[in-house]
Amino acid sequence: MTVIDETVLTVLNKATGFPIDQLAFTAPVDLDRVLRTAADVQRDWARVSRHERYRLMTRYAAAVAEHTDEFAALLSIESGKPLAQCQGELGICERLFRGFAERMLAASERADFLDNQAGLEGDLLLTHREPLGVVVAILPFNFPIELFAHKVAPAIAMGNTVVVKPPLEDPLAVVQLVSLMTASGMPEGLVQVVVGGADVGAALVDSDVPAAISFTGSTETGKTVARTAARTLKLLTLELGGNDAMIVLPDADLDLVVEQAVLGRSIANGQCCCANKRIVVHESITEDLSTRLADRFGSLRVGDPALDGVEVGPLIHDRAASKVASQVEETLQAGARVLAGGHRADGNFFEPTVLAGVTPDMPVARDEEVFGPVMSILEARDDETAVEIANNSSYGLSGAIFSADVGRAMRVATHLQTGQVVINGTGLYRPDVAGFGGYGLSGQRREGLSESLTEYSQNKNIVLRRVLDSGRGAR
Ligand code: NAD
Repeated sequence: MTVIDETVLTVLNKATGFPIDQLAFTAPVDLDRVLRTAADVQRDWARVSRHERYRLMTRYAAAVAEHTDEFAALLSIESGKPLAQCQGELGICERLFRGFAERMLAASERADFLDNQAGLEGDLLLTHREPLGVVVAILPFNFPIELFAHKVAPAIAMGNTVVVKPPLEDPLAVVQLVSLMTASGMPEGLVQVVVGGADVGAALVDSDVPAAISFTGSTETGKTVARTAARTLKLLTLELGGNDAMIVLPDADLDLVVEQAVLGRSIANGQCCCANKRIVVHESITEDLSTRLADRFGSLRVGDPALDGVEVGPLIHDRAASKVASQVEETLQAGARVLAGGHRADGNFFEPTVLAGVTPDMPVARDEEVFGPVMSILEARDDETAVEIANNSSYGLSGAIFSADVGRAMRVATHLQTGQVVINGTGLYRPDVAGFGGYGLSGQRREGLSESLTEYSQNKNIVLRRVLDSGRGAR
């Protein structure tokens, strides 16, 4: 749990509950100053050449690599995630700063001769990508560093400045990453961090200064952000919640299913947007697969991630652990059965849990996102029913299908209403290059190396009239 007094945020070790550091909350007057600075610095940064931006960003990526062990250890303590996962997140951060810098440098802009339209034969159209201005990046607690990089790297590559609002629960590693920017030669004010919760986030979204908000978090908060941002018509990127299905067809390799389902539901201690939260299984193999999942998932080692061999750490705070406990309890009362786990342990730990007999009408089978290590198993009589169950949710982030017949899996994939489908692997899969994002209440727009440079810039058409020979008679 994070303890808050009037002016100071105390960040806790999530496994032991002991304080690890304090940060001053950003006061409203300081927020105005931060936003004004961001706007001032942006005008200069937009004029910095692309090769210089590339140089600074790749130097920063190298600095991140040098600090990986230190920042990963901090993230592990403040988030409760196992160290290896936090090291992986730092690795993603380094790759994204380098990757966005390289793509920005390699991108070319367009020049069109306009003789494809009568009367414009002498004209030349230049299509130039310009920055948006000041971008606000609001981060969730589960992957603060990865999402910092997914937002900040493309934004600054395209000439924007950024104000980052890390989560209240685990802001420390992000604060360190921002400090490292100036230490590695980036201009003061290019990326600034503010500390606060919903009030600070809402003030940033409502301010007249930012041109765009890039938000990752729950669907409920995303809707509030969208309502607030509508006043000033800010450009919005929303990456929101999910209740992803993993469909297991009767010819699937069950060893692979178990391995991938356990991986996908245990990363980040079960607190991942695109985890396989619902396992939709063909009725002929439900019993066999359920037993295997219960054996394997139920035997994961839970504890302080500082200890060797721990695979699942604590949930982020008391509220989160209570919520998962009550979601499990309600699902049991509705008729489901526990095959493994089912209980909250001391502190904010929750036993890896497998629930069988979940039916499509239960909230966890539809729109209730369980943010903890809990799998719900649903039975389907054929492929069509499996798709119906999977699509019976307002979310649509990712999904998975297991089958030995890739053609059959492809047919199912085309019917899933999700931004991503993985065949023969967990849907918790995010290659840097993919345009990641969801359908429906899972969000709007896409993030990733292939998409974000466009998302953080806008077209400017510059036309040179009557500059070509044939342009004499042009209007
Ligand atoms: P959250 O919505 O509680 O908070 C997210 C961020 O928004 C935090 O920084 C918070 O302080 C801030 N915030 C809260 N109220 C605000 C307001 N009114 N205006 C502006 N900002 C406000 O989410 P969380 O609990 O930190 O994260 C978990 C959720 O995020 C889950 O639903 C998960 O599925 C989702 N998520 C989605 C993705 C994705 O890529 N789609 C990735 C990670 C997490």
